[in-house]
Amino acid sequence: MAATVSGGKEINLRVGQGVDVHAFAEGRPLIVGGVNIPYSQGLAGHSDADVLTHAVCDALLGAAGLGDIGHFFPDTDDRYMNADSLHLLTEVMRMLEGVEMKVVNIDATIMAQEPKLTPYMADMKQKLAKTIGVDTARISLKATTTEHMGFVGRREGMAAMAVALLVR
Ligand SMILES: [Zn+2]
Repeated sequence: MAATVSGGKEINLRVGQGVDVHAFAEGRPLIVGGVNIPYSQGLAGHSDADVLTHAVCDALLGAAGLGDIGHFFPDTDDRYMNADSLHLLTEVMRMLEGVEMKVVNIDATIMAQEPKLTPYMADMKQKLAKTIGVDTARISLKATTTEHMGFVGRREGMAAMAVALLVR
């Protein structure tokens, strides 16, 4: 258990990471961080395949030592078919409340060769911050291409990584 001593008082901090990948598919909406982004393809998945929100959920669950979203929201469960991943994030926040953990900050990176995500980042940050119940200053979002290398570079899909710090 991570613990820091500050002024004689123990602060219980936990860090967690999340990684997610989804393939592009025709005829799907592209939803990243709860934002619908105009593009020729969307991401394939059982839920809305929101790669960023999934990585954030896994970072939060990981920090709390609760497991991963595949465990809580299995793709064999019809309730999560085309599910709005912000709803899954709301559920994750309820679980964190259950173990009395609060978000200190989240830092996430989206990996995509296309489309350009910068115009949508402020909106994504707003939606995630609102769902998590923190100020936008506690959410950091970044985007990168992979310089045309690998599955992201070949525009076969998108990936996201997130780190979350929690305090009890
Ligand atoms: Zn996912």
